[in-house]
Amino acid sequence: KAKELGRNRSWMYQPELSRNMHSRMSLEKDLRDALVQNDFRLVYQPQFRQNESNPLRVETLLRWPHPLRGLISPHEFIPLAETSGLIMELGLWVLRSACEQFLAWRDQGLTLEKIAVNVSAIQINGSFAESVAKILDDLNFNPQWLELEVTESLMMSGITEVTQQIHLLRNMGVEFSIDDFGTGYSSLSKIKSMPVSVLKIDQSFVRDISDESSDYEIARAIIMMAKSLGLSVVAEGVENQIQEDTLHRLGCDWLQGYFYGNPLSGEEFLTKYNTNQ
Ligand code: C2E
Ligand code: MG
Ligand code: MG
Ligand code: MG
Repeated sequence: KAKELGRNRSWMYQPELSRNMHSRMSLEKDLRDALVQNDFRLVYQPQFRQNESNPLRVETLLRWPHPLRGLISPHEFIPLAETSGLIMELGLWVLRSACEQFLAWRDQGLTLEKIAVNVSAIQINGSFAESVAKILDDLNFNPQWLELEVTESLMMSGITEVTQQIHLLRNMGVEFSIDDFGTGYSSLSKIKSMPVSVLKIDQSFVRDISDESSDYEIARAIIMMAKSLGLSVVAEGVENQIQEDTLHRLGCDWLQGYFYGNPLSGEEFLTKYNTNQ
């Protein structure tokens, strides 16, 4: 039925389509300008261990305050940055800036174990490891402070180049986590051979994690599997006490979400979490 409707009315979508194309192109230009004008911002969201009030890990999240349209979600502009190729430059800017922030915090007395940075699949080409190494080297940044978040589908893709780059970085001491875990199609046995140390349970499973839901069973299975493979687990999207209690009970190592803290600018993060002042 839907198909029929779609076919009969397809002409109606024409103007819509070209309008979208137009706005897509102008947004792509804006994206390019923003990169040149240094308009992008980073925010940081803490991750907490059970019963600890100081965060030890943090995830870096990219923000684009568009001059006319206001804040645009990364869900909207990252895909555009990917298809336009801008993600290469943008991704390296994010990485360098996040590492610089981590070092600035350290200088000011805020010591964290690790900073995580999201990496798009497109970024991992033949020179990725080298580009990362250059940044770490430039900044004199300990590779063990860095964790790169990649998606499940990328990690499982089996693309030789990707695996090679990941192994190169792993050998330098950079760690990898699988973001939004549980939404892809990984075979559990395959995880074992992947060079990752952290699984991030997707927030869709955390949302309805009350005791007898199927999401509870999925989260439980992920945590149990991770434990038996010696991996850590981060739950993302924790918004309330019930979710926290449940995840504690299941033995989840790290918790992240609005319940503990929204993503904050570097200065806000320092003010809120620096206990040495
Ligand atoms: P993600 O890496 O899975 O990040 C988690 C998202 O959940 C973030 O959205 C975060 O702000 C949001 N979040 C945190 N706590 C809660 C909570 O308690 N409840 C709910 N409902 N949401 C929560 P954000 O910042 O809009 O980013 C969306 C996605 O965009 C990210 O998902 C990531 O895939 C991508 N992204 C963000 N920054 C970058 C980047 O620098 N590079 C790349 N390649 N992708 C990025
Ligand atoms: Mg992430
Ligand atoms: Mg995620
Ligand atoms: Mg997500």
